[in-house]
Amino acid sequence: LRLVSVRKMYGSAGNSVTALDGVSLALPPGTFTAVMGPSGSGKSTLLQCAAGLDQPTGGQVFVDGAEMTGGSETALTKFRRDRIGFIFQQFNLLPTLTVLQNVTLPLRLAGRRIDRKHCITTLQRVGLGDRLHHRPAELSGGQQQRVAIARALVTNPKVVFADEPTGALDTRSARDVLTLLAEAVHLYGQTVVMVTHDPIAASYADSVLFLADGQIVGHLPRPTPETVA
Ligand code: ADP
Ligand code: ADP
Repeated sequence: LRLVSVRKMYGSAGNSVTALDGVSLALPPGTFTAVMGPSGSGKSTLLQCAAGLDQPTGGQVFVDGAEMTGGSETALTKFRRDRIGFIFQQFNLLPTLTVLQNVTLPLRLAGRRIDRKHCITTLQRVGLGDRLHHRPAELSGGQQQRVAIARALVTNPKVVFADEPTGALDTRSARDVLTLLAEAVHLYGQTVVMVTHDPIAASYADSVLFLADGQIVGHLPRPTPETVA
C-alpha cells in the first residue's frame, strides 16, 4: 500500500476542514500496521481514502503497484471489490443473510465464481465452520466480527483495512479477532492496516503510525503496551 501526498478536505471553500494534510506512506506486503492518534486526527478518513471508500481531494493511492485514485466512481468500486477487504467496528453484516451467504457476497459482487468450499474453509479458519446457516443476530459480537473477518478475507484481498475492529468487543473476543488478523499477516502474507484506540490491540501490529491534525507524526516499530499508552 502506497500513499503519495494524500489530502482530504471536507466542506466547501471558506468553510472547509482539512482532515488529511499531505499523507505519504509505504507499507510493504505482509505487514500489520496500527494507526493511532487523538479523536479528529484523521484516522478514519485515512482508512476511507486508502480503502477506496472515499476519494481523496488530492494525491495518489497505489495498491499492489496499481493506482486506485483518479478514475471514475465505477472504476474505484471495481478496484475495491477486487483488491481490498474492510472490517468495521459494528461488523456491518447483512442481517437477513446467513453467515455463509454473508461470506459469499463479496465474491458475487466482484463477479467471481462462487466457490462454496472455499467460503466454508474461510469460515473454518475463523472458527465458525459450525455456524454456516445461522443469522448474524444469533451470534455473539465476537462471532459476528469473525464472520466479518472471513467476509473480508474470502476474496484474498491485497490489503485488509480494519476500523476499530475490537471497539465493540469484550477483552477475550478482542484477543481472538487480533490473533486472526495477525495470522492473516504472518501465515497468509496479507497486509493489514488497523485503526485502534487500544494500546494492547496496537501491540499485535508490527508497527504503529501516529496521526495528529491530519499528518503522520510518527511511525514506530512493534510497540509494547507501555510505549503507546
Ligand atoms: P473517534 O476517534 O472514532 O471519534 P472517540 O475518540 O470517541 O473515537 O473514542 C472512542 C472510544 O475510545 C471511547 O470510548 C474513548 O473513551 C476511547 N478512547 C479514546 N482515546 C483513547 C485512548 N488514547 N486510549 C484508549 N481508549 C481511548
Ligand atoms: P478520527 O478518525 O481520527 O477521529 P476523522 O477522520 O473522523 O478522525 O476526522 C478528521 C477530521 O475531519 C475531523 O476534524 C472531523 O471533524 C472531520 N470530518 C470527518 N468526516 C467528516 C465529514 N463527513 N464532514 C465534515 N468533516 C468531517
